[in-house]
Amino acid sequence: MTHRLADMTWPEVAAAVAAGATTVILPLGATEQHGPHLPLGTDTIRAVALADRVAARLPTALIAPALPVGCSDEHAGFPGLLSLDTATLAGVIVDCARRMVAWGVRRLVVLSGHGGNATALALAAERMRNEMPTLALWLPTALRELDAVIVAVAASEAITPAQIGSHAGDGETSEMLALSPALVRREAAEVGYCGEFAAILPTLRTLGLQAVTPNGVLGDPTVADAARGARYLDAYATALVENLNAL
Ligand SMILES: [Zn+2]
Repeated sequence: MTHRLADMTWPEVAAAVAAGATTVILPLGATEQHGPHLPLGTDTIRAVALADRVAARLPTALIAPALPVGCSDEHAGFPGLLSLDTATLAGVIVDCARRMVAWGVRRLVVLSGHGGNATALALAAERMRNEMPTLALWLPTALRELDAVIVAVAASEAITPAQIGSHAGDGETSEMLALSPALVRREAAEVGYCGEFAAILPTLRTLGLQAVTPNGVLGDPTVADAARGARYLDAYATALVENLNAL
């Protein structure tokens, strides 16, 4: 049986909850530029893919429909941007959680494909802990950080952290080649900023990506590889579940 809430009927949800499916995974995406070669929905596609992989390892989890808009104002100036204010996104998550608790959910996992959602996630977590103290929460604040598992996969294939990048580089592009290759415009892929991330962070925070990378890329998407992308996703999902089970 499907574990996707949007594909289930209410009697199926009732039966699943009665049988112990009291964890909901909520994928959280974004609609923002991802360089000249990746679609604006990249973070949403990646968040859904990670939710699927985590759910495959957690048979009692239900998967909520993805929220496709996050907090992405650091991408202002690039066409196509959609974004919510921090309090708005936090409010959407809290509102959905309140309804989940009413029909029996006991643990909420929010998987964000976009690092810029972290502040809203922290605010949502604070509100939910106050309003719904019985709801267990697990909200890793970003999936795009250069976690050790991703760096290790890359290193085994002679890919550097600078090439993986933190936005639309080898990391996200390889994952998209694995997940949705028809949406990757390989011929348009070009190298972005590959220097020290710490060196650009102050400018990123105040002026946004456009000030540090005119093409919108942080990393090197030209070396991307579909098989490596699948390994990134699987390694990340495994690490996520290990952390979740450690709760
Ligand atoms: Zn992204």
